Amino acid sequence: MTCLSFPPSAPESELRLAILECGQVCYARHLMTSNDGNISVRIDESRVLITPAGLCKGRMDADDLLIVDLDGNVLASANDRRPSSETPMHLEVYKQRPDVRAVIHAHPIFATALTVAGLDFPDDILPEVALTLGNVPVSEYATPSSREDADVIRPLIRDYDALLLRQHGSLTVGRNLDEALIHLERIEHVAEVFHHARQLGNVARIPPEELRKLSKK
Ligand SMILES: [Zn+2]
Repeated sequence: MTCLSFPPSAPESELRLAILECGQVCYARHLMTSNDGNISVRIDESRVLITPAGLCKGRMDADDLLIVDLDGNVLASANDRRPSSETPMHLEVYKQRPDVRAVIHAHPIFATALTVAGLDFPDDILPEVALTLGNVPVSEYATPSSREDADVIRPLIRDYDALLLRQHGSLTVGRNLDEALIHLERIEHVAEVFHHARQLGNVARIPPEELRKLSKK
């Protein structure tokens, strides 16, 4: 069984392996390029396991991960790594969402391109979006690597499991990393289909009454 869908009782060693596996998938799928992106899981009520700054998420060791508290203080770092500058954004999620145990911040190409182009997420072009995520809001712009990352998601993350960060990337959450990754892959798939449809010259929207039928399922 894959580590990504870890149960609530999973030990810390399993959570470390789950983050490594998630990083490898995200890097291989071009959802995180270079040393971009970060992944975290909640260990318990007060501790979070998170990827470090400056490392490619496809090539990490279990000891590269850090443990921080909800204020961002480093509690343990076996390889003496620094926490990512985007750690406050992850902690904002855990503070607001007791149901969430996994957070992925990625830089997916097509979904990020939507925000660069100033377009909304197309939540009405494929039925599976209405059946799963529904609307995916785009945050305000934030200065990279500042606490503004946490500020711009604050009004949104209570109500959504998937966000786009304007001219930056994505933020997806779940009860485990499998759920957060499924949201991330779905966002990117929809954005890529939308891109290709525009190239072909027409984007057909699902009529509102059909969308309403789907959202009742
Ligand atoms: Zn980022």
